[in-house]
Amino acid sequence: MNPSELTILEAAKLMREKKLTAYDLVSSCLERIEADNGEINALVSVSKTALDEAKAIDARRSSGEDLPMLAGIPLAIKDNIMVKGWMASAGSRILENHTAAYDATVVAQLRAQGAIFIGRANMDEFAMGSSSESCHFGVVRNPVDRERVPGGSSGGSAAAVAAGFALGALGSDTGGSVRQPASLCGVTGLKPTYGRVSRYGLIALASSLDQIGPLAKTAADVAVILSAIEGNDPKDATSSGPYETYLPEIDTEPSVEGVRIGIPKEYFLDGMDERVKASVMYAVRQLEKKGAKIVEVSLPTTEYALAVYYLVMPAEASSNLARFDGMRYGLSAGGATLQETYERTRGEGFGAEAKRRIMLGTYVLSKGYYDAYYRKALKARERIRLDFEDAFKVCDVIASPTSPTVAWKIGEKFGDPLTMYLSDIYTISANLAGIPAISVPCGTADGLPVGLQLMGKPFDEKTLLRVACTQQKT
Ligand code: GLN
Repeated sequence: MNPSELTILEAAKLMREKKLTAYDLVSSCLERIEADNGEINALVSVSKTALDEAKAIDARRSSGEDLPMLAGIPLAIKDNIMVKGWMASAGSRILENHTAAYDATVVAQLRAQGAIFIGRANMDEFAMGSSSESCHFGVVRNPVDRERVPGGSSGGSAAAVAAGFALGALGSDTGGSVRQPASLCGVTGLKPTYGRVSRYGLIALASSLDQIGPLAKTAADVAVILSAIEGNDPKDATSSGPYETYLPEIDTEPSVEGVRIGIPKEYFLDGMDERVKASVMYAVRQLEKKGAKIVEVSLPTTEYALAVYYLVMPAEASSNLARFDGMRYGLSAGGATLQETYERTRGEGFGAEAKRRIMLGTYVLSKGYYDAYYRKALKARERIRLDFEDAFKVCDVIASPTSPTVAWKIGEKFGDPLTMYLSDIYTISANLAGIPAISVPCGTADGLPVGLQLMGKPFDEKTLLRVACTQQKT
């Protein structure tokens, strides 16, 4: 088998048994990149030192050192997560020439494990998008069907895993950006509980919603990456921990015996793609056969989630993006006055979607509208969180589709922001409520991957991963 097709657990085992070298593993991913990245465009830059790093890992292993699971494993890192000395542009023209001055905490944690960063993953500008079409470095193509989008905004991360450019990846998820591209590309992606993973070194979109999350072929691999990046970080006041980590190498026969899976009645409505619904319900029935109990739950405020998200997120985004003013980072277009410099830099540096959200966010935060929109949205957000709290009194995880549709054609929804926003319907609530959620592949419709989303209680990634691992064993 081509080493780039292995899972992280398989590759780590083979390396431990000295049947595979990190050098061969990294070479095989680099070959895949060489062959396909020109078209797929999942990576915006590729590491020049990966092979040397692999050799160094192999040397340490041959000298008898007992290395962590991720040692020698090639990972792609989304372009909004800092790797010292590498570009960090968040997919935007305004940061095109920006170099990271420090490692994000997650990057430092992975580095300490010996993981190898193979390249920067392409993304929608500032993580705003669901299709990886609004990328300054060009559209990403879905490796399953190159005429289709890979989802977004971590489309480069998901496509890199699906195409064998890396065995795993980091993405960021503010409203679904790890889970939805995972679903559309047929890989697995987790958004951890808010606060479980440090955001230090992540270029912020909406700080109260953002979480960095892992993508890989399987839930077990995702668990391995999560256990490396989670934990309290003094540099991020919203982070917490330590946690009870899920260890797939120990839980080799995961079980769902007695786990209560909630099906929200508001999620399976007429009009949704029947093929998606059928795949998701089939996966749920399989879990039932394995001992899970299926219960109906209600999330009555679901219909407000999209409106709340598209008020809270732009409000925070407009504030976070205010720092890109041509003075301190990245592009500075110059001008006769300070005002003109701001206007030219921001006018030329931001793409259409970023401008749209900055304007929306500034509007809802302005005097007179703050109470009517922003404050009201915060109240509704709390109601959404309470809905989940109630639902979790009668179930342990909640199942739904990740995306209402399979991957669509490039260009199909671009230029129609409202239709694009609607594709986030199932994923945004988990961010608003701060709870963990994972997308696992659960079948195909006309050859295109469908993702099952499982949402869990705050900080109960353990149950989520156990159910996801069981699902993948069916
Ligand atoms: N698609 C959503 C948006 O455009 C989610 C983005 C994200 O999670 N970063 O806001």
